[in-house]
Amino acid sequence: MNDAPALRAGAGSAGEEPGAPEPRVREGAVTERAACVLAPNPSPMTLDGTNTWILAEPGATTAVVVDPGPEHEGHLRRVIDAVERSGRRVALTLLTHGHPDHADGAARFAELTRSPVRALDPRLRLGDEGLAAGDVITTGGLDMRVVPTPGHTSDSLSFQLVADAAVLTGDTVLGRGTTMVAHPDGRLGDYLDSLRRLRSLTVDDGVHTVLPGHGPVLRDAQSALDYYLVHRASRLAQIETALENGYRTPAEIVAHVYADVNRAVWPAAELSVRAQLDYVQERGLM
Ligand SMILES: [Zn+2]
Repeated sequence: MNDAPALRAGAGSAGEEPGAPEPRVREGAVTERAACVLAPNPSPMTLDGTNTWILAEPGATTAVVVDPGPEHEGHLRRVIDAVERSGRRVALTLLTHGHPDHADGAARFAELTRSPVRALDPRLRLGDEGLAAGDVITTGGLDMRVVPTPGHTSDSLSFQLVADAAVLTGDTVLGRGTTMVAHPDGRLGDYLDSLRRLRSLTVDDGVHTVLPGHGPVLRDAQSALDYYLVHRASRLAQIETALENGYRTPAEIVAHVYADVNRAVWPAAELSVRAQLDYVQERGLM
């Protein structure tokens, strides 16, 4: 068993390193084609709040919005205002996944903008078109590639913003700390594959910027993904050690392994632990 703490890199899970500075997301233009509007729903799980992304090709008259966020009328209208101020209209809304902090506002947003909503989960779609792995969506000259990234949830997608060498990761990779695997819908084996898939974009396609669903933009995507992979391996090792030491229930394991983490995130940590226990059992690691 590896010495888990030695594997840890600089950043920590939300609340893991109370002394560490916590950079906030910056609103407005972040890359040439992406701008952020922060939703007013901060919490230990959503960090500063949900990042709603506005994507548009320079000179185009249409924009794409990714994750309208919670059903908060003021936030939805701020997003529309930001699009209109740039002389554009919203032509399409995309969802990274169905969690309410990303998707609850989608129906109202579609109503306000009279634009369709596309998502992997058919229940979240409004309009005729869905989304599938590998799809390339072109709107107003802007190309986005659909990258399947299940694991946080089974319906999680990332969107590669090809021209900016950026990827929108929803909750698969966050701008600060690490994310959770929402057992039983989210599965750790899928999640690790998704992290490796995103990392391969940094190698094969030169993707360098992560536009996350929460927290600040990451300008070194490859280091962030390496850290996530190391962090997962380290947590898994800690859980295996806890099992060897006789901790049995997910709640016992959380109290032991996540002792250094803000208790507000323990319920989510317990879902991650359940996902990791499934993974350990399925692989016959214990
Ligand atoms: Zn979220």
